[in-house]
Amino acid sequence: MLKLYNTLTRKIEPFKPLNPPAVTYYSCGPTVYDYAHLGHARTYIFADILERVLEYNQFDVKRVMNITDVGHLTSDSDTGEDKMEKGAEREKKSVWDIAKFYTDDFFEMLKKLNIQKPAIITPATEYIPQMITLVKKLEEKGFTYTISDGVYFDTTKFPKYGELTGQTIEKLEKSIKAGARIEIVKGKKHPTDFALWKRTPPGVKRQMEWDSPWGRGFPGWHMECSAMSMELLGPTLDIHTGGVDHIPIHHTNEIAQSEASTGKKFVNFWLHGEHLLIDGQKMSKSLGNFYRVKDMEDKGFDPLALRYLFMTAHYRTQMNFTWESLEGAANAYSRLKKDFQELNRHSGKPEGRVQNLSLKKDPGQARMTEDNNYKEKFISAINNDLNIPSAIALMWDLIKDKKVPDNEKKKLLLDFDNVLGLGLSSIKLVQQPVPVEIEKLAKEREKFRYEKNFKEADRVRKEIEEKGYLVEDTPTGTSVKEK
Ligand code: AMP
Ligand code: ZN
Repeated sequence: MLKLYNTLTRKIEPFKPLNPPAVTYYSCGPTVYDYAHLGHARTYIFADILERVLEYNQFDVKRVMNITDVGHLTSDSDTGEDKMEKGAEREKKSVWDIAKFYTDDFFEMLKKLNIQKPAIITPATEYIPQMITLVKKLEEKGFTYTISDGVYFDTTKFPKYGELTGQTIEKLEKSIKAGARIEIVKGKKHPTDFALWKRTPPGVKRQMEWDSPWGRGFPGWHMECSAMSMELLGPTLDIHTGGVDHIPIHHTNEIAQSEASTGKKFVNFWLHGEHLLIDGQKMSKSLGNFYRVKDMEDKGFDPLALRYLFMTAHYRTQMNFTWESLEGAANAYSRLKKDFQELNRHSGKPEGRVQNLSLKKDPGQARMTEDNNYKEKFISAINNDLNIPSAIALMWDLIKDKKVPDNEKKKLLLDFDNVLGLGLSSIKLVQQPVPVEIEKLAKEREKFRYEKNFKEADRVRKEIEEKGYLVEDTPTGTSVKEK
């Protein structure tokens, strides 16, 4: 049984989707105004592992991710510049070009890190009509007020506001005020209120702006995730993920506006990945203290060494990035690839004992095999709130275990790699030298063929094949290799 830590309840709970085997899963995507960095990589590797673990448990995952190409301001309290317009100005390009360029960069990073792309990924700008409809609905239900700056959500009208943070609205207000070097929008009734639609200020020409019942402007940042997820996955999602920085504002506001509009629970399981730090501070675009996957590659590192590094820490603990730790992970990852490559496929027991992937579907249950301890332990690690560090340790125990035949190890490692995503299936196994006994048989067969004693030659061929080798007669001679 898969168990996950739910930020909403602050507990590890058995995971039960609304309509098994289907699982609806939404992940907040990046704001594409600058390069994707290693901090993003950590969050999206965590989200990828969650998707893989769900699939391993035989759920049918329907996953959606947005790309924020509008509406995310430099301050989370609806003030400051639009990050995208700022990026465009910096690079003297159009906002649309900036969005395309950095979206491509993000996709390239996903590919290098073997992160599966969610089934649906779309930019926020493709959902403007749905966002306008959502604001209208909130307006009709009396959750909004309009000021010169735009349309705002009145958080005092939503009694459960802030539930995700475990804090009351008063506490949240206090912490916003305490942190307020932040300028608060004029006319906003409460510090926690947030923009649903921002009007383009008079005299300003934005590159991205749309007509709406409240004037020309653009959606508030949180709108896109509610509008897209509910349009594509329905009013109640099984899972929603993001980084921990999204808990107090972005996700708290997503819940308020979604639940106020539908009257239904928005998300059953909220999962958040902890930050990647550098020198003790969050790695971030705005602080400029970030490295990209390309920087790693320039130093000769395989991107999958980073994936390995991230998997050595649990997703709910902070991790400080250092080049030394990456070096350590790169060494371990090379050793893993080498050990895997050298697995002798045919020693020990016959193949086919370990895996039985054709079992009938039983959602919520990882595929079980015959009494294989490693597989069971692997399942209990990953299903224990994604305890991947423990799964990695188990993988090494398996590699070192002399009692497990190599062909069995190979199968198990490939099976585990469906979750770990370390690219083992694309590693070619080293061909083992043909044993002397087989060579002798091959020579014997050659002799029979030379003597035109085909009956005996065939008998020896069969014997060779029964021992797991293939005889191939080509115009240049005869060769023997492993099946
Ligand atoms: P952004 O591009 O800032 O909208 O962020 C996209 C996602 O990456 C969000 O879920 C963030 O929480 C996450 N993220 C950004 N920086 C980091 C970091 N240093 N460590 C982990 N996740 C991060
Ligand atoms: Zn979001």
